[in-house]
Amino acid sequence: MADDYDMPKGELMKGKKGVVTGVANHQSIAFGIASQLAAQGAEMAFLHLPGMERRVQPLADQLGVKTIAPVDVTDDAAMDTAFKVVADSLGEIDFFVHSIAFANKDELKGSFVENTTREGFLRAMDISVFSFVDCARRAAALMPNGGSIVCMTYLGAERAIPNYNTMGVAKAGLEAATRYAARDLGPKGIRVNAISAGAMRTLSLAGISGGRGMLAQGRAMSAMKEDTSMEGVAGAALWLMSDLGRSTTGEVVHVDAGFHIMGLADDAEG
Ligand code: NAD
Repeated sequence: MADDYDMPKGELMKGKKGVVTGVANHQSIAFGIASQLAAQGAEMAFLHLPGMERRVQPLADQLGVKTIAPVDVTDDAAMDTAFKVVADSLGEIDFFVHSIAFANKDELKGSFVENTTREGFLRAMDISVFSFVDCARRAAALMPNGGSIVCMTYLGAERAIPNYNTMGVAKAGLEAATRYAARDLGPKGIRVNAISAGAMRTLSLAGISGGRGMLAQGRAMSAMKEDTSMEGVAGAALWLMSDLGRSTTGEVVHVDAGFHIMGLADDAEG
């Protein structure tokens, strides 16, 4: 099946349990990460947006994930219920993957200054940033023996990228939240990191005006002149989730084929 990833198998996650959020379909970054964690022996629960059961259940079955539960991260009661399902099914956990973002389509095109509304800005911050803080607090309560929390970000947090607009500001907030959470949770043995992935062909990218241009330019401007691979992103997640990452926290790890290191485009010699 085309949506199967051939992730390296092993036992790096054997005996570890955790939660993966943000699986919407087989292209979701969360599904790539979950595929790698499963191939290394992790036991998982999926938390997904309500209404996605029909798509998520087969993906969970494919990886042997026994628990899936709906949650809209803007709904406190739904968050209480979802984390209770996690606690009841897994007990203590070792890892948590936050792979959730949202902004209204109108905020993801044209002029940042002209098109950003109060309602749209707050919604993007709520779903894409506050939910991470909320998840980190709830996940940490299930990690008495330490653990690892990872979220997903993009270079638009650090640089002004056309059309990324409100989401870039949200990602900057998410990266700062990663550092603050790492500082808070470090003494409890809980590491918190962000993976800054290059543009990848997912539902979220399709919501951004000129998303295909982000892919093409990301490839053309990358040091390696290639797309960011799901395997590369999932491999970084495995490093951070497993004991291999034991001394890394508060970090933004770029997995973008070297897109973030580049200055001028190659043909900009004038
Ligand atoms: P995706 O659309 O597959 O994943 C986004 C997920 O967010 C979906 O599963 C969706 O259901 C979930 N979601 C949205 N609103 C929610 C809510 N209110 N409650 C619960 N869940 C909600 O796309 P993706 O590209 O896999 O995105 C995953 C993460 O990776 C996002 O944080 C995204 O910003 C980030 N990211 C994506 C790219 C890219 O190019 N695709 C690059 C870097 C970072």
